[in-house]
Amino acid sequence: MTKDILVLGAGMVGVCTALALRQRGHAVVLVDRQAPGKETSYGNAGIIQREAVQPYAFPREWMAVLRVITRQGNDVHYHPGALASLLPTLARYWRESAPTRYAGTVTAYSALIRHCLTEHDRLITLAGAQDLVSKSGWLQAYRRNLPFEQAARAATTVAQEHGLDCRILDRAGLAATEPALHDALAGAIHWRDPWTIADPGELVNRYVTLFESEGGIIRRGDATTLKQASTGWTVTTDDGPLTAAHAVIALGPWAPALTKPLGYRFPLFVKRGYHRHYAVEPMPKLPLLDVENGLMLAPMKRGLRLTTGAEFAHHDAAPTPVQLVRAERYASELVQLGEPVEPTPWLGARPCVADMKPIVGRAPHHRDLWFNFGHAHQGFTLGPATARLVAELIDGETPYIDPLPYDPIRFEG
Ligand SMILES: Cc1cc2nc3c(=O)[nH]c(=O)nc-3n(C[C@H](O)[C@H](O)[C@H](O)COP(=O)(O)OP(=O)(O)OC[C@H]3O[C@@H](n4cnc5c(N)ncnc54)[C@H](O)[C@@H]3O)c2cc1C
Repeated sequence: MTKDILVLGAGMVGVCTALALRQRGHAVVLVDRQAPGKETSYGNAGIIQREAVQPYAFPREWMAVLRVITRQGNDVHYHPGALASLLPTLARYWRESAPTRYAGTVTAYSALIRHCLTEHDRLITLAGAQDLVSKSGWLQAYRRNLPFEQAARAATTVAQEHGLDCRILDRAGLAATEPALHDALAGAIHWRDPWTIADPGELVNRYVTLFESEGGIIRRGDATTLKQASTGWTVTTDDGPLTAAHAVIALGPWAPALTKPLGYRFPLFVKRGYHRHYAVEPMPKLPLLDVENGLMLAPMKRGLRLTTGAEFAHHDAAPTPVQLVRAERYASELVQLGEPVEPTPWLGARPCVADMKPIVGRAPHHRDLWFNFGHAHQGFTLGPATARLVAELIDGETPYIDPLPYDPIRFEG
């Protein structure tokens, strides 16, 4: 039966949700306060991370925690003033990262991430977006021998357990694979399954064009005006109020602006991240994570995109790009880093949940309201996969993966 559905938020997650529902024959309006794909889904490292079977856990070793607290590394930064309000959620994140709980999370997460390439592939083909895609994987690189050897052993085990393709590259192997790099690295793990996108925001836009060509509608509007009506849900748009039987909240890091007033107390927080593009000659072929220095080098259409690790801060706090300043220095040890392309760095926020799984499914206390947010480090990867899940749930079908680990009900009681 055809339903009227509002999808709120036009990042990768909302666009894929709107598209999945439209392709099932529903009348879908996608609402965003700005043009689609301008926020987190624009600014990421552009990797469809098939290898990411283990979501980012809170470090459990005291030395690692101490390193974060004393701000010794560049992978994590925090605003001391934000810690008091973040502490309860971070404490839960720490508890959820305990080995036995975490093992269960990995089982659930790997069952979802397994579908990321096939679900993107279908959309990439329909959207004619193959020109944006490279299928050569990415490099998880190390400066020092010992951490490299430890990580190589761990990666080999994970690859065997999950059927992933990874090659261990020593110094010479890395130089042969990526001749643009300076000789500063001990080696790298080459994850060969993932795909990389030369312009993440543009991929979102290609999916939007597909959505519109299949009869989907886009409107500008403020999602926080969402109200329950006698016939479903109403939101105010630039073209006046819109009402539909169902609404899906896909607002990424802004989801709490709507879920909190509705009475939901999810353990959500953000890990902020920065990027900036640079002219680089010669340009590396593959994205590279400099693990010990917490930065990613991602070759993109606009230049080499340098992205940073996690910054624990209030979502709307002023930018403090100290990690990017250090990352520039580390990156120039690896490549011939030229001038920045933009005058100021981009700042975005990974929408995180304390149990490391996105929140996907029916709103426990509101009829015909659905959630699809909290994709943390892998929302660009998982957009089409959780879109399919929520669409199957809305249609009352047996979903293609077990929905329980993602069900919002897990935070009730
Ligand atoms: C530095 C960095 C690197 C990353 N690298 C990767 C990567 O390589 N691979 C990967 O898979 N993931 C990566 N991520 C994570 C990924 O980018 C996010 O998980 C993903 O983009 C979240 O998508 P989303 O659609 O949920 O949110 P968003 O893309 O943020 O979309 C939310 C939308 O909601 C809209 N909105 C907000 N408030 C309102 C309102 N009141 N009314 C109407 N509309 C509103 C916004 O305008 C926006 O369009 C990275 C993130 C960062 C920060």
